Amino acid sequence: MNKIETKLAKAGDEILDEAAELLKSGGIAAIPTETVYGLAANAYNVEAVRSVFRAKGRPQDNPLILHISSTEMLYDIAERVEPLALTLAEAFWSGPLTMIFPRKKHVPAETCGGLDTAAVRMPRNRFTLALIEKCGFPLAAPSANTSGLPSPTSAAHVYEDMNGKIPLIIDGGECRYGVESTVVCIENSDTVRILRPGAVTPEMLREYCHVVIDSGVLEKLDAGAKVLSPGMKYKHYSPKAEVYIVKGTDNSISSFLNSHGVNKTGFLGFGSEDPADCVISFPYGKTAEEQAENLFSSLREADAAGCSEVYVRMPDTAGMGLAVYNRLLRSAGFRIIDTEK
Ligand code: AMP
Ligand code: MG
Repeated sequence: MNKIETKLAKAGDEILDEAAELLKSGGIAAIPTETVYGLAANAYNVEAVRSVFRAKGRPQDNPLILHISSTEMLYDIAERVEPLALTLAEAFWSGPLTMIFPRKKHVPAETCGGLDTAAVRMPRNRFTLALIEKCGFPLAAPSANTSGLPSPTSAAHVYEDMNGKIPLIIDGGECRYGVESTVVCIENSDTVRILRPGAVTPEMLREYCHVVIDSGVLEKLDAGAKVLSPGMKYKHYSPKAEVYIVKGTDNSISSFLNSHGVNKTGFLGFGSEDPADCVISFPYGKTAEEQAENLFSSLREADAAGCSEVYVRMPDTAGMGLAVYNRLLRSAGFRIIDTEK
């Protein structure tokens, strides 16, 4: 790929027209959202969408989420909108909930990884909503990282991965949540299936309907297994360092790190452990919300510090912890060390 000049611009009125023109002419740009940064293209422009796949090195069968700014846009994409989907849209949009709909024929198959469905969400970011509105079409936007690496939660992370590959990065500050949206499909009139957990938690969805958590959320998929959400089958969110999940108490984890830690061993803990001096600590928080916010950036920091292995303390899986654990399992290739055994 030829290197191109990458412009970094602060989100605001000054860049809005330029970004909209770029996207209207088939260009791509990194945009801020409340979950992670997205790499956006006109969802209806096949060439633009291909540029996104190329810049990320994303497998062609991993579909993109279409970001909208109004329910009219949803009806332009979806062949059918179930009443439950409308209820959830009313409850959680704008916000970190993505829903899957049967797609209309004019939505390109390339955007949707060849599936008959399209994933749609309305992001909660003022600039990005204004940008979509100005464009007048949905923005297909996967996370703005190189495929396989931890998702970007700041413009600096996007720059690390995308400098020289995309013309524009819009800096909207640090992402509020730090993990990607919750992805659900409507199972029947009163049930949704969670394909990817996020900041809209099972507990929050249960206020409105029954919730099934797909087995792919916490289990390793067999090779060749048919998956509802193609993104779940790929190794994902992994830094260069080898990641292992460590399970146990403050004491058992501390003694594990004392005996296994060597120079440049990295550790993401809750801050209450006492690792050996040679271990480099990147506390990622005590609450699920803090852990979600810091997980990807701490993994990137561990790489920047030259860690060759990183141990990450297993989070509690209640609430948003399910999203943290789901990302961590993939990042660690499902390797878990029980330090109490
Ligand atoms: P990312 O763009 O990195 O946030 O990943 C998008 C996620 O949404 C991936 O896990 C995809 O598999 C999932 N996704 C997007 N479109 C669909 C769809 N039509 N059906 C099922 N999952 C989808
Ligand atoms: Mg991604």
